[in-house]
Amino acid sequence: MREDVIVIGGGIIGVSAAYFLAREGVPVTLLEMGALCNGSSWGNAGLIVPCHSKPVPGPGVLWQGIRWMLDPESPFYIRPRLDPALIRWLWRFRDYCNPQAVHAAVPLFRDMQRASLDLYRQIIPEEGIECHFEQAGGVELFRDVGRFAQARQEVEEMQAFGLDMRLLDREAVRALEPAVHPEVVGGIHYREDAHLDPALFVEGLAAAARRYGAVIRTRAEVSALEGENGGVTVRLAGGESLAAGQVVLAAGAWSPGLARGLGVGLLMQPAKGYSITMQRPRNAPRIPLHLAEARMAVTPMGPYLRLAGTLELAGISTTINQRRVNAIARNATAYLAETEGEVVRVWSGMRPLAPDGLPYIGRARRAPGLILATGHAMLGVSMGPITGKLVAEIAMGKQPSLDVRAFGAERFS
Ligand SMILES: Cc1cc2nc3c(=O)[nH]c(=O)nc-3n(C[C@H](O)[C@H](O)[C@H](O)COP(=O)(O)OP(=O)(O)OC[C@H]3O[C@@H](n4cnc5c(N)ncnc54)[C@H](O)[C@@H]3O)c2cc1C
Repeated sequence: MREDVIVIGGGIIGVSAAYFLAREGVPVTLLEMGALCNGSSWGNAGLIVPCHSKPVPGPGVLWQGIRWMLDPESPFYIRPRLDPALIRWLWRFRDYCNPQAVHAAVPLFRDMQRASLDLYRQIIPEEGIECHFEQAGGVELFRDVGRFAQARQEVEEMQAFGLDMRLLDREAVRALEPAVHPEVVGGIHYREDAHLDPALFVEGLAAAARRYGAVIRTRAEVSALEGENGGVTVRLAGGESLAAGQVVLAAGAWSPGLARGLGVGLLMQPAKGYSITMQRPRNAPRIPLHLAEARMAVTPMGPYLRLAGTLELAGISTTINQRRVNAIARNATAYLAETEGEVVRVWSGMRPLAPDGLPYIGRARRAPGLILATGHAMLGVSMGPITGKLVAEIAMGKQPSLDVRAFGAERFS
């Protein structure tokens, strides 16, 4: 069998895979249709959040989405349409909107995120990547007294999984982060969490992968994958064909169309979110904040502050809905003492989301030359480096250093 590997997708997952493969001496070429970080990996909130080890589906989530369908500013939105793929996906999603499914997912996310965090702490200094990485924790802020009262139970539930978090009263929140609005009534301190500028990290990691011998080609769009003699043929939009022993599919929300060519049906929906990146206001928070009722995040990133949120099931599209962006900006003013800063970029990206909220990591049974590495939903940054390491282990026929059985590529077929 040929030794070489082609990775499709230049986001955090594809670049992490290329880095770990190249570091092990495997000949690897990464193909990216745009520039690096063309997809969801650019403008996300940059949080590594073991304390948030929960999947998107959960009790009441689907009904909340249906109730919010008519609200043009809601943080979770399903665009009504008769799309058989969306209906099939929602049908399966419904199966995971219960406490048992959430409890089964928490340790998986916790272990993946902690393993990634260890890798971030190791790789960033080793490769000299400047990406404003800090493990300073984070705080979830509450404005609503009733909602804050429920937080106690949520904290106890997550502490039972060994996660390091604690409740903060109004004064303790201010002592930790003075830049919050006076009407914030309390918070949860997430003590394990970290943050960085995700695009700077991906670019730095790609440069390191190149130093280890990886070939990284941008503006190289893959139009189709075909199976041949145990290997895979990769057809490029320009007419070129490349043969590889193995292909790692890390094309984010675009992955299902390419997997289909090899007979692998991936249940996945693009879950769009938005961010606003601004020059850091003088009185900006020092640590990341999660705004509980508004369901959004605020992250300091070097000279910038980023506000991010919204989960919109609206098909493959990165068009920006200004009303939702305005809602993000307005909501931030309810939690922060100051949000005035020159806006540098308003951005949207599509999170790749499977019905159970778990990623797809592993070799496809139907196409042994194909390794899937996608579906990381809200936690692609958090789980990026460990996914890259696992992919390299799988490609080299080694025992993966974490159990990936729950992430099976064909678990819904
Ligand atoms: C608003 C928002 C906030 C978020 N905040 C966080 C956070 O704080 N922490 C966290 O962990 N996660 C966060 N996420 C999720 C995170 O951004 C994603 O999980 C992650 O970026 C997915 O990475 P990826 O490499 O799988 O996909 P992508 O980054 O989308 O990369 C896929 C790449 O594949 C390329 N591609 C697609 N098709 C082809 C083709 N045919 N040929 C060649 N190339 C192709 C695309 O151009 C793209 O660059 C957030 C997401 C959003 C939208």
